[in-house]
Amino acid sequence: MKRRLVLLGAPGSGKGTQAEMITRQFGIPVTSPGAILRREKDLGTPLGQETAEVLQRGDLVSDKIIIELIEDWLRLHGGHGFVFDGFPRTLPQAESLMSILARLRTALDLAIWLEVSEQTVRDRIAGRLQCGACGFTTSVKSAKFAERPVCPYCDGPLVRRNDDDMAVLQKRLSEFETKTQPLASFYGKMSILHRIDGNRDRETVFSDISRLIEGKASA
Ligand code: AMP
Repeated sequence: MKRRLVLLGAPGSGKGTQAEMITRQFGIPVTSPGAILRREKDLGTPLGQETAEVLQRGDLVSDKIIIELIEDWLRLHGGHGFVFDGFPRTLPQAESLMSILARLRTALDLAIWLEVSEQTVRDRIAGRLQCGACGFTTSVKSAKFAERPVCPYCDGPLVRRNDDDMAVLQKRLSEFETKTQPLASFYGKMSILHRIDGNRDRETVFSDISRLIEGKASA
């Protein structure tokens, strides 16, 4: 199924989890600048080293770097549609995406906004574990492996993200409020914005998202 969608929402709103469920169910390729940058850091590349501190502080990486990442990704994989998890996060990123897609003679189908309360964010971030190898995300509660939790998909180590710290979270939330919130009216004006209650369990949220994806005709 060929769809082009962006998943937006605060840290811990479930973007990564839903992106993964979308790709498993519909086969739409997913990408996430945050995951790419964490991988670059683990590999010790110049990009990873340049951005590691920014991620650690909870700031946003420069628009220029992020837009280049997305442009490269679209050139290589964009022909089958996409799910962007955590992109765009600023107005200049959203505007650049529009021009890149216009150049490719295509457009976004859906902008899905996962709305969550601050309490949900805090609870999820405090209990989040992520696979260091494939990025699968789960919670301490559902990871039923006491000593050395491993990923159910690839056996990689389940670890805490080093920006999932309460002081860093405060910064990430404030970046979200000031730089990402304006995207709601940007996509609202384009009539492609859909707000979904992300406080519910992952399956319930996913069934709402699936209905939206299935309702959109392929371009
Ligand atoms: P995420 O994995 O989406 O929570 O992103 C982790 C971190 O990567 C963010 O806190 C930012 O530092 C950086 N990042 C991810 N996506 C973007 C983006 N679209 N624009 C700027 N920085 C980003």
